[in-house]
Amino acid sequence: MNAADPTNHSEIANLVSGVRDTFASGYSKDYAWRVEQLKQLELMIKEKQDDLLSALHTDLGKCKTEAWISELGFVLSDINHTIKHLKKWMKPRKKSTPIGAQPGKSYVLPEPLGTVLIIGAWNYPFQLLIAPLVAAIAAGNCAVLKPSELSSHMSTLLAQLIPKYLDNNAYVVVEGAVDETTELLKQQFDHIFYTGGEAVGKIVMSAAAKHLTPVTLELGGKSPCIVDNSANIDVTAARIVWSKWMNAGQTCVAPDYVLVEKSISDQLVIAIQNKISDFYGKKPETSKDYGKIINERHFQRLTGYLENQNVVFGGNQNIQTGFFEPTLVLDPALDSTIMQEEIFGPILPIITLDSIDEAIPMVNARAKPLALYVYTDSNDYEQKVLQQTSAGNVCVNDGFMFMTNPDLPFGGVGNSGMGSYHGQSGFDRLSHLKTVMKRSFKFDVSLRYPPFSKFKLSILKRVL
Ligand code: NAD
Repeated sequence: MNAADPTNHSEIANLVSGVRDTFASGYSKDYAWRVEQLKQLELMIKEKQDDLLSALHTDLGKCKTEAWISELGFVLSDINHTIKHLKKWMKPRKKSTPIGAQPGKSYVLPEPLGTVLIIGAWNYPFQLLIAPLVAAIAAGNCAVLKPSELSSHMSTLLAQLIPKYLDNNAYVVVEGAVDETTELLKQQFDHIFYTGGEAVGKIVMSAAAKHLTPVTLELGGKSPCIVDNSANIDVTAARIVWSKWMNAGQTCVAPDYVLVEKSISDQLVIAIQNKISDFYGKKPETSKDYGKIINERHFQRLTGYLENQNVVFGGNQNIQTGFFEPTLVLDPALDSTIMQEEIFGPILPIITLDSIDEAIPMVNARAKPLALYVYTDSNDYEQKVLQQTSAGNVCVNDGFMFMTNPDLPFGGVGNSGMGSYHGQSGFDRLSHLKTVMKRSFKFDVSLRYPPFSKFKLSILKRVL
């Protein structure tokens, strides 16, 4: 916590109430002020990129390029996109006015919600906290940020940097773990934006219900990856490996398991193995581009998934350094833990099917995933998957490339979450889209006023 002792609960209440007072004062609504704060955030990333990259490396072993693509560069482009479009997003959005309400005009006017609590997860500890902050600032809100305690170096760094670059009264960082988050959740917010696992998502939602606070839940789940026989296997393998082993598989939208027909599964497995070696070398342990597992608890969880499984590639581990080799498991039982829980690590199960027709029912037998990947050269199969499955986000013929498009809303559905953000969808999510209708004093037609008559009713039936 930047301005108070994290163990002192009344300090948390005071801090939140101070931020709420700032919002009530109204200055965070000003367009120029919002842009200034966004520019300050941009300056922070540019001036402190070495410190930020170093924290990402210490917490997760992220190499500079990967950290740039998925964290700093990602947020910078979100900021630029937001500054470029903010004026337009803030404008009243014209709607048509029905004849019965003429003369008049109708529009939707975005207004800030108030004070937003943003709770981040550890796997992309910068992006997952700061991208929602970009949306919160853009929408004119104040915010309290709670970084994940598991990525402790980034948490400490942000608690130092945010007060130096952003308005201290409007944006504060509260560091801490369950205790501090629990205390924060007791406070009144106008929106809670949570990224993390399903179990804590339920805790957040029930705490929010006490204040009737709306929530955005960015959760995870098992994201399937279907490889159809028509797919280009070499390109498919490269894209699967890129999206699975970035951040050592600790990505909410990483492919969790692959579904492929037996007729091409050997070819795919070999192609994936070759790409792993191309990307990370024969000894990924020595690759500077390969990340590490966040902590021992997660390491042991992943080790447990391999018990009694058919490991066909990888499997080497070093708990001291956090190294967990890219690992392929062939045909695990569907009721084994590895196929029941979100893997969230560098293990990829490959399920071989007699026919690709089995893939869609298998996907639909599970909770709705955050992402679904289908590799196919067949438009018919692509359409079949799109029409017959449900997922937060779909990418055809690639991994999480869809995340690079700020015009695409990102979010889950069902168990993978609720509400989306990035670009305008983030602005809209953290705004109230207020309905406004303005009537004229002219032509005050009395049809709608009592006393009613059959004649009035017959006219009303025609115009309404
Ligand atoms: P985590 O352990 O970092 O927890 C997330 C946040 O919840 C932290 O800030 C933590 O302090 C807080 N928290 C933990 N326990 C709590 C409790 N009992 N009460 C109140 N707050 C508590 O992250 P995690 O949960 O391990 O995250 C992994 C999950 O997040 C995976 O399921 C992953 O798919 C999902 N995820 C989703 C996205 C997305 O954008 N949809 C992104 C990243 C991760």
